[in-house]
Amino acid sequence: MCKIAIAGTGYVGLVSGVCFAEKGHQVTCVDTDENKVNIMKSGVSPIYEADLEELMQKNYAEGRISYTTDYKSAYKDADAIFIGVGTPEQPDGSANLTYIATVARQIAETVMRDCLVVVKSTVPIGTNDKVEQFIKDFLINDVKVEVASNPEFLAQGTAVRDTLHAARVIIGTDSKWAEDMLKKIYEPFNLPIVSVSRRSAEMIKYASNNFLALKISYMNDIANLCELVGADIQDVAKGMSFDERIGNKFLSAGIGYGGSCFPKDTKALEYLAKQNGYELRTVKAGIAVNKEQKTLLYKKASSRLITFNGLKVAVLGLTFKPGTDDLREAPSLENVPLLLAQGANIYAFDPVGKKNFEDRFPEGKHDKGRITYVDNIKDALIDANICFIFTEWSEVKSVAPEDYKNLMRTPLVFDGRNIYEIKDMRKAGVEYYSVGRNYHG
Ligand code: NAD
Repeated sequence: MCKIAIAGTGYVGLVSGVCFAEKGHQVTCVDTDENKVNIMKSGVSPIYEADLEELMQKNYAEGRISYTTDYKSAYKDADAIFIGVGTPEQPDGSANLTYIATVARQIAETVMRDCLVVVKSTVPIGTNDKVEQFIKDFLINDVKVEVASNPEFLAQGTAVRDTLHAARVIIGTDSKWAEDMLKKIYEPFNLPIVSVSRRSAEMIKYASNNFLALKISYMNDIANLCELVGADIQDVAKGMSFDERIGNKFLSAGIGYGGSCFPKDTKALEYLAKQNGYELRTVKAGIAVNKEQKTLLYKKASSRLITFNGLKVAVLGLTFKPGTDDLREAPSLENVPLLLAQGANIYAFDPVGKKNFEDRFPEGKHDKGRITYVDNIKDALIDANICFIFTEWSEVKSVAPEDYKNLMRTPLVFDGRNIYEIKDMRKAGVEYYSVGRNYHG
């Protein structure tokens, strides 16, 4: 078993750390955020992910995981240090590597024995080379430090399951020593391993995320055309999904992708291409489609109503997808300000994202409108003039079509996630708008 340190306890770092501990390694999770570290020490997960808190508590009780802000004690004698800090988007679309650089410097100044540094964060191609050189430039002790790429593919909402049962582990290194070390660390997971160069590993991550983002934008583009020509995107997707070359995942049309990865990774790859004198036209088009798609419901609703001013607007779902409390790049963040600017009186429901949203939009007046948070959907719907569905939480899916009719002042629903059958909503007397669908019945 290995002594592992993890830099950064976000979705990637904490979940990886907990899963390494679960597989028997000795793990120390490091974060600069003292508040976060104290929360974790008390056995509570600072993020919402299924099964995470239970595994944190189990492995903490069994002595395999600890949390600290003291990076020196964690890095000095680790066999491997995994970097899982953020690489957020900068205004020009490029990835911000300052958090990575800080960790690299901290490692260089503290390691006291040979160690492998593993970059899990999503970084532009060539970054691992630079991180290795940077560490060597600042290394204080006479020890061997190598850097390997091991990009992460977990999806928020299913992060623990995705890590324990990953489809593959990518190991990016040209060093036999580094490859053997990573294989040893992943051995107890019993997963398929793909060994490639560092640059190929970095590109695998970007190419995978960009491909998935493009798949979503493509389906949204086709959905918009379906609406115009009388086809139904869900039937179209179903028909496509039986083709093994296409597969049945990421075919759902809606109001665009969000989250911390697809938006920034598409822009970072486009930027990287531009830097290298190449125009990545496919990705560029995908980004543009996604941008338009996010406010599709607002545009549809604006052409249906004279004004939002003074209307009670029910907003169901705030997070970028179900199963997470993450709001990064969520469609709600674009639509809510538009509605508030028009004087809407918003009643918002989200089972876990409420707190994070409230930090950005505290309850009360904003612009010409106001926002109120409710703990149950009924309070959002009662007497509402219009309802927007932004996230397909199971709580939202369980609202019956008749509930909209019975609770709302005007049963007018704009569904960005195609939750309902059009015929069911019609039968219940709900005026229903969704994405890319036409009903022939
Ligand atoms: P995050 O923003 O949730 O967490 C990053 C953490 O790093 C924060 O807790 C921050 O306090 C901490 N940190 C910053 N500087 C530090 C330092 N010097 N030492 C220790 N901790 C420090 O990030 P995330 O969503 O987990 O993403 C991390 C990386 O993984 C990104 O590159 C992202 O693109 C990639 N990734 C994310 C996902 C995902 O679903 N979130 C999936 C695959 C890959």
